[in-house]
Amino acid sequence: MSQSQTPAPALDSTKLKELKEKLITACHILDHEGVTDGYGHVSVRVPGADAFITIANVSPGNVTSDRLIMQDLDGNYLGGAKTPPNEWPIHACILKARPDVMAVSHTHSKWSTIFSVLPVKLKPMHHYGKFLSADGPPVYQGIGLVRTVERGNDLAKALGDGPVVLMRAHGDAVVGASVEQVIERTTRLAMLGEWNHLALLHGQPRYLTDEELKVYNEDQRFPMRGWEYYVSRLKKRME
Ligand SMILES: [Zn+2]
Repeated sequence: MSQSQTPAPALDSTKLKELKEKLITACHILDHEGVTDGYGHVSVRVPGADAFITIANVSPGNVTSDRLIMQDLDGNYLGGAKTPPNEWPIHACILKARPDVMAVSHTHSKWSTIFSVLPVKLKPMHHYGKFLSADGPPVYQGIGLVRTVERGNDLAKALGDGPVVLMRAHGDAVVGASVEQVIERTTRLAMLGEWNHLALLHGQPRYLTDEELKVYNEDQRFPMRGWEYYVSRLKKRME
């Protein structure tokens, strides 16, 4: 634990109630939007502590409050269900390397996987991709699940200071400054992958340049609108 951090509250503390509910909603959104399947996970940093909460070896669409786990950034168990996801180092290592990141998602999105193995890159071709650079996300070349801290650190290195890293023949990891932002980025990355694929069928797309992306990034109004939309779609499913 770094000196500036305080110990994490207990996982069943009322201080973490809202954050846990948001994390569960986030997982259900990725399932409902078809980005995750039986696998994948979202994590959230415990504010002010070297700890995170993620889902305990359960499919994102099936997660409930009793299937969450809290770990420190070295992977030590801090509370909740006792079965961490296989790939917990994705979250621990990225959160350790990137103090600016509050939430991480890992998915086996078909669109990220397709562009992780193609010679063409997934690039922004719509303003939904304004969080990416014009060159698109890097690809982590490591093969195999990210089950060790060594692999997690390699993945974090491939991510660098960017928002997304594709994982060859595997999927992606997406980061954000909040749970809401990471969910919007993850769903939009999947949309962009599909649109890149469709556009490439017709020839060479005219992707957005860094200068053009800057124009869109100057408008940061209504940052919560995407989250509200996805939550409303979940509610309709339950009606
Ligand atoms: Zn995986």
